[in-house]
Amino acid sequence: MNIAKIGVIGAGLMGNGIAHTALLSGFDVTLIDAFEAALPKAVATMTKNMDRQVTKGTITAAAKDEALKRLVTSTDLSRLQGADLIIEAVPEREELKEQIYRQIAPVLSADTLLASNTSSLSITKLAAMSGRPDKFIGMHFFNPVPMMKLVEIIRGIATSDATFAAVQAVAEKLGKTVAAAQDSPGFIVNRILCPMINEAIFTLQEGTGTVTAIDAGLKLGANHPMGPLELADFIGLDTLLAIMRVLHEGLGEDKYRPCPLLVKYVNAGWLGRKSGRGFYDYSVNPPRPAK
Ligand code: NAD
Repeated sequence: MNIAKIGVIGAGLMGNGIAHTALLSGFDVTLIDAFEAALPKAVATMTKNMDRQVTKGTITAAAKDEALKRLVTSTDLSRLQGADLIIEAVPEREELKEQIYRQIAPVLSADTLLASNTSSLSITKLAAMSGRPDKFIGMHFFNPVPMMKLVEIIRGIATSDATFAAVQAVAEKLGKTVAAAQDSPGFIVNRILCPMINEAIFTLQEGTGTVTAIDAGLKLGANHPMGPLELADFIGLDTLLAIMRVLHEGLGEDKYRPCPLLVKYVNAGWLGRKSGRGFYDYSVNPPRPAK
């Protein structure tokens, strides 16, 4: 199946990065958001990020202009008509995703493939909700999308081989490496990464090490580019807690229980970078450990 036109639903952090990458890889892109104001903001962000690539010499100014000409933005889901692949990147709420799949159903052709960028919901369940389970798949990008090289491709129980092959080819055309995963809580990356970060928070809670010692330990002792607490702040502590809850509930083992200190920080509104405070205080430059 030849995929030339991609629809992206949700022009936030991830949808923006997915649209950016798809445009620069030669796809026509229709970017949809429910909120009118989100669309010019997304175009401005994409333009600024492409300008940075032009300055760095990774793309030419002509490539940027040509890519942005292939972008259509709209609040109207019916503009997705004619898309070969639709990638949904709306907030992580099952009922919202279900509502969108219902709304777009009349617009899709029999061949249109539908992918969700969900971090933690069951692909099999979303696929059933979409009413086209053989043509549904998980396409889990990482933030920031234009920089991060991986896409996890997750098959639901009913995803067809043809759907997997077509979406794998798209991911490769986007310049990404594919990690194929079965549908299981956290897929591959979050299943391994989030318990490691959660364990770092237990290590802090128990007083085994300070924020500085824990982050330096993993950076210098395990060669990680970021310390686990720094990374927790980057991901967002509310997002991390939500993923730990999915792992705990879905896999049913105590080893996935969210650390009480993580719960306490989220209750306090200390969500990491986005709220100005998490394990680090971002009101100062460079950020320093908050405690
Ligand atoms: P975000 O909040 O930045 O963006 C979501 C966008 O969807 C917003 O622009 C919002 O206006 C729009 N939206 C809300 N309701 C809509 C509707 N009914 N129709 C169309 N658009 C609507 O969220 P995000 O961080 O980009 O996350 C999107 C998805 O990607 C989630 O499923 C999340 O789990 C997943 N994800 C996030 C990350 C990450 O690091 N943030 C990484 C991988 C996957």
